[in-house]
Formats: sequence, C-alpha cells, structure tokens
Amino acid sequence: MTIDPRTIMVVWAALNILFAGMLALVGMHAGKVRGMRQWALGDLLIGISLAISSQIMMSPPLFVVIVATLTLGCGLGLLYNGIESFKGGRSRYWITAVFALIMLVNNTVFGVWYPEPKIRIASNFLLFALVHIVCARALFVQISQPLRTAYWLAAASVSVIAILALVRVVSIIFTPADSVRMFTASGVNPGVFFFASLAQMSMSFAFMLLINYTLANELKELAATDSLTGILNRRTIEVETMRQLAQIKRSGDNVAIMMIDVDHFKQINDRHGHPAGDEVLRRLAHLMRSVVRGTDYISRYGGEEFCILLPATGEKQAAALAERLRRLYSELRVDWNGHSLQSTISIGVADSRQAGSDLEILIKAVDTALYQAKHQGRNRVVGFSEGVAGAERAEGVGQFA
Ligand code: GH3
Ligand code: MG
Ligand code: MG
Repeated sequence: MTIDPRTIMVVWAALNILFAGMLALVGMHAGKVRGMRQWALGDLLIGISLAISSQIMMSPPLFVVIVATLTLGCGLGLLYNGIESFKGGRSRYWITAVFALIMLVNNTVFGVWYPEPKIRIASNFLLFALVHIVCARALFVQISQPLRTAYWLAAASVSVIAILALVRVVSIIFTPADSVRMFTASGVNPGVFFFASLAQMSMSFAFMLLINYTLANELKELAATDSLTGILNRRTIEVETMRQLAQIKRSGDNVAIMMIDVDHFKQINDRHGHPAGDEVLRRLAHLMRSVVRGTDYISRYGGEEFCILLPATGEKQAAALAERLRRLYSELRVDWNGHSLQSTISIGVADSRQAGSDLEILIKAVDTALYQAKHQGRNRVVGFSEGVAGAERAEGVGQFA
C-alpha cells in the first residue's frame, strides 16, 4: 500500500474544517459550555493552515508562509485555551501569540530567507509535539465518570499526535539534510501522517463526548435539585429512599427520616413579602447542610417542608440530630430590610425498623409525627415510636424536645 502524505494532509485539513462546522452547530444549542468556540475556531484555523501547507512546494512566497504559520499557531493555541476554558480555568491567549510568533520566525528564517528544510521541518514538528504535550497534560485530569472517559480519550489522542511528531523529529535528525522533504513518502513519514490524522479525528470525537457528557451531567443535576435552595427535590429523595429501603430489606439495617416544617411560615410571607420567605428557606437549607452528616440526603419536600434521609440511623439518633437542628434554627436571625426575622421549626422523625420499610408507610409515619409536633405547640421534635405509636399504646404522647 502506498500512502501519500500530501493527500493525507488534504484529508486531514478537510476533516478539521468539517469538525469546526460540527462544533459550531453543537454550540448553537449548548451556548453555556465554555471552550467550545475556541475549539471550533481552532479547528477551522488548523484546517485552513493544513490545507495551505499541503499545497506548499519547495520555496513558498513569504505571505503564504505568514498565513500558514499564523493560522496553525493560532489554531493550536486556541485548542489549548479551549481545554483550559472548558475546565473552568482562565484563557491565556499570550500562549497562542507566543506560539504563533515562534512558528512564524522559524518558517520565515529557515523557509524563505535561508532555506534550510531540515531545520525548518524538524522545528515545526517539534513545536507541534510540544503544544500537544501541553494539551495532553491539561487533559489528564482526575475527574469522576463519565467525564473521565472523554477527558482521557482526548488526552490519549493528543499524546499519540505528540509521540508521532517526535518520531518524525528523530527521523529527520538522522536523515541527510539534502533529502529531507515535508511530504516524503518514505521512512516513517507516511505512517506519521496517517496515524496522526486518525488521532486528530479521535481527539475531535473526544471533544464532542466531553460536551455531551457535560450537558448530560448538567441536565441530571438540574432535574435532581430544587432551584430555590440548591438541595435535592422531592422526586430525588423519594427515589433515593426507595433505593435505601430496598437495600435494607437485604441487609436488615435501619434508615431514618426527618420531616421538617417551618412554623407559621405564612406570617413571614404576609408581613415581609415572598422574597423574605424565600431567603428564610434558603438559610434553613444552608443550616441543614451544616448540621447533617456527609452520608445524609437533604431535600425540599415541597413549600416550606423539608425531608432528610439518614441511612444507617435509628429514630433516637435521628431525633438527637433533629433536636440540634431545631435549637440552632431557633437561634438563627435572618436580616431582611432592617428587620431581624426569627422563626421556629417542627420536626417529625421515624425509622424503618419501627414504622415499616415501605416508602409510603415511612412517609406517613413521619408526617404523623410532624403533625403531633404541630399539635403539641410547634418548635419541637416528635419521634414516631415515642410520640405517635407510643401515644396510641398508652394514650399519652412523648417527645424529644
Ligand atoms: P404551620 O405552622 O401550621 O406550618 O403554618 P404555616 O403558615 O407554616 O403553614 P401553611 O401551610 O399555612 O403555609 C405555608 C406557606 O408557605 C404558604 C405558602 O404561600 C408558602 N410557601 C410555599 N412555598 C413557598 C416558597 O417557595 N417561597 C415562599 N416565600 N413561600 C412559600
Ligand atoms: Mg409551616
Ligand atoms: Mg407546611
């Protein structure tokens, strides 16, 4: 099989331009993903540069060299900046400028003024390798799945390009100066061009995957959280509770649930307005975050009602935690338009061992406990087994407050 590097370069250029167009199309509907514009523009510039370079013969005119090197330098720089920007970092465009300038000087001096193909081509490939090494370094990040797969695929592809470019540099060093040609169809050159263009394609697919996974993650998070408080929403806590309950049916473990309701919350809205009520809910969510353990799940169950799922916890232990939350909340002051807002919460607690390991039954139990807490005068914690089941047994009501 004969591989013509110049033909591959044309295909490589076309693929880059095609991919730039695809990224631009994706970008139209995913405006928020950072780095995409840089990738699209970078790919377009690299494509243009490769297209021009593929047509360059022995001694190209100066302006062709200027256009080809500046587009390649800027394109590669944008690729790197796109990666940094995608990761949430700051773009460093000076790197792009420095890189384009070095390429320009190298090709002008050794391509036009004192033509030295060996030095010019070797340094071009070396610079190409260096940029890809820097990109690979930026892409090998420790991140959770599925983003890791996409990051590492991109990093591996970029590394392959860097290695191939370095192979070409080494082969040029051992080639006599008068037989060094950019598109020579002998030695390692055809293989370098062939596999580098494949790696470039794989890198482009990895970028698409990165965007896809990022959007999918964002969507998943959006669907799982409450927009006002940033904690989980009702649907998510119910799904998680069902999962935990299914697990404990096998393990025999215990799961507790806390239902929290703000006392006389309507008065806050009526006196200070809805935004004040919103702020109180946000502060309560924040307080809950600081009180519960890392393994617990906090959710807004609806309106001014919150639900906390506590895995591997019994009612007594959950009630102690609820009591701490109740006390801290009663001490909380929310500054609002010159007023210091203060309110209290009532909490119902139940566990699966006492109430039952079925979602509906558990929620009903904790709701009944909460109702008891309200009934007894609010600002208190009532446990299902002590306060509700116990009351049914002895016609008396116990409480933790
Ligand atoms: P109780 O002590 O019996 O719980 O009395 P309450 O006033 O807290 O209970 P009620 O159910 O009468 O009122 C709840 C109020 O919560 C009514 C509703 O307007 C308000 N509310 C529900 N969701 C939101 C919200 O997202 N923001 C604000 N500001 N208010 C909300
Ligand atoms: Mg209420
Ligand atoms: Mg309520």
